[in-house]
Order: sequence, then structure tokens, then C-alpha cells
Amino acid sequence: MRTIVLDQPGHFRMTDTPTPDAPGPGQALVRVRHVGICGSDLHAYLGEQPFYTFPRIIGHEVGMEVEQIDANDRGIAPGDRCTLNPYLSCGHCVACRHGKTNCCESLKLIGLQEDGALRERFLVPVDHLHKSETLSCAELALVEMLGIGAHAVQRGRVGSGDTVLVIGVGPIGMTVVQFALLAGARVIVMDRSEPRLDFVEKNFDIAARINPDQDPIPQLRQLTNNDMPDIVFDATGNIPSMQNAFDYIRHGGTLVLVGIIQGQVTFDDATFHRRETTLLSSRNGTAADLDRVISHLERGDIRSANWITHPVAMDDMIGSFESFLDPTSGVIKAIVEI
Ligand SMILES: [Zn+2]
Ligand SMILES: [Zn+2]
Repeated sequence: MRTIVLDQPGHFRMTDTPTPDAPGPGQALVRVRHVGICGSDLHAYLGEQPFYTFPRIIGHEVGMEVEQIDANDRGIAPGDRCTLNPYLSCGHCVACRHGKTNCCESLKLIGLQEDGALRERFLVPVDHLHKSETLSCAELALVEMLGIGAHAVQRGRVGSGDTVLVIGVGPIGMTVVQFALLAGARVIVMDRSEPRLDFVEKNFDIAARINPDQDPIPQLRQLTNNDMPDIVFDATGNIPSMQNAFDYIRHGGTLVLVGIIQGQVTFDDATFHRRETTLLSSRNGTAADLDRVISHLERGDIRSANWITHPVAMDDMIGSFESFLDPTSGVIKAIVEI
């Protein structure tokens, strides 16, 4: 069967691999239909992702059909369309015991530490499947990414009428915008990239857009009746941006760091304390987050057309991959049809 292997950074190879054996206990054999290309996949290709080992079959944002599965308590049968919860948690560490499987001490990601979905078929754990009666496999390939925003917005306890600032509106920041709007918030976005701001303004009902190079604090004061935003999300993973974000929160407000960076983030304690700031990180998503995303997609609360900007056939993926790295290509989400 056709399989795309990332042999080493910068080098994909289309190859033939044997079809997997029949599924063992607790496993399902799935036919992959669509795979989303994630920021972490782009970092792997560029050799900037320290957790990858090579060769690796990447791909963790999956829409697929179940081909072989035993009777199971999740009610999933052959022919069902599903997405994958790609996070493998250990089930017994302190985080897992507290229900926080998304930050398990020994978390593994299918498509990063284990081979993923850029192939026609593979075996997946049944208890990591999430099905939908109505969504297409392309829509199901969006669920994991949207789960990042669903989780972050829940972490920030965003409520109706809150003013939310989202800094960095690449794909992950956009998922935060999406779920903050669904929570009933008034959303201001901040980004250095005018094309990204244009895209978000065109596709989402935002209250305002700010370029951080244009003296943002007076603009934020003006937009919030001098109060400043209730909850600020930083999705840049950029240290100066993360540090500046401490200055954008109202007194008694919350800062959620969604983007991750290797390095030290520092802040002025007096500013932090005077405001009694609540500081949170947000990592990945949980199975419950994925179910919430599926419900919103099924109800039509999320327009999948906003997200799938670059559909590509499996045969064309390797040749197109460099263009996904080019910010001027306007790529939000490339979805590979397998
Ligand atoms: Zn991802
Ligand atoms: Zn664990």
C-alpha cells in the first residue's frame, strides 16, 4: 500500500509498505482518507522538532473509515467514519490519575513518537477513535487541531460577554478565536502579518484587529473602555510576544500561553502581582475536547470551509510540501487525500 515516509528532515519518500495484519485485541484496522498537515509536521520537515526520530511516517490529524473492528463498548462498527485521538497517555501517572491525560508524564503522539497516518491503512487503538454519523473524513481531519483551541478556551474559562485578545492568528490562534466566539466572547486579534489579519477578519466575526508594531496598549484601552482584555491568549510561541502579553491583561484577568517555546519567559513581578494575574499554560486536548469539537462541527457552528485552504492529493503532497512552509501561500490547513 502507498505510504509516505519522512526519511530525514527535508526528505519525504513515497514507498510501498505491507498492509497491516488483522487487528489484535483493542485495535481497529482503518482506511485513512484525509490527513491534516500540522505545524509540528512542518517543524519536523525543517528539522526543528526535537522530539522526532527518523525515518517516521508522520500524520496525526486523521479522517478515516473503520474497516475491521471487533464488537466494542464504543459502538464503532466497520464502515464508520472516525477521527483519531492521537495522544497516547499511560493511564497511571499522576496527571492521568487526575484525568489530565493531555499532560501525561510520558505522553506519546501517534505520528511523532510512533508511525502515523500518511499511508492507506494502519492499526489504531479502538479507545482512541471518535466517530461521527454526519461529518466527512476531510472535516474529521480538522478535529484534533480544533481541539487545541477548545481546550485552551476552556482553560481560560471564557464566558459570554468577556473580551478576549488572541495574539498570533496562525492556525492554532484561529482555533482559539473560533472557540472564544462560540463561548460568546468579544474577540480582538493581534498579529504582525496583515494577510493573516485580513483572513481572520474575513472569516470570523471579530471586534477589532491590532498590529503589535503600532502601539497596541492605547488601542486596547480604547477598545475596552480603558479596562484592557479579560483573558489574553498567546499563540505565537515567540518569547517577546509572550512577555509583552503580561501588559495586555486587565486587573484580575487571565493569561493563557498556548504556544510553546524552548526557553525562558520572564515578567515583571510587580505588574503581575498588582493585577493578581492568573497565568495558565494549555497543552493539546483531551478526548472530551474532541467530542465537543465534533458536536460543534455537526451542528454547523464551525464552517469547515474556513479551515481547509489547501486540499492536496497524496501523489502531489511531496512536491507541494515546500509551498506549505511559505507564508505568502496563505496556507491555513493543507489536507492530504489518501
Ligand atoms: Zn497537530
Ligand atoms: Zn500518564
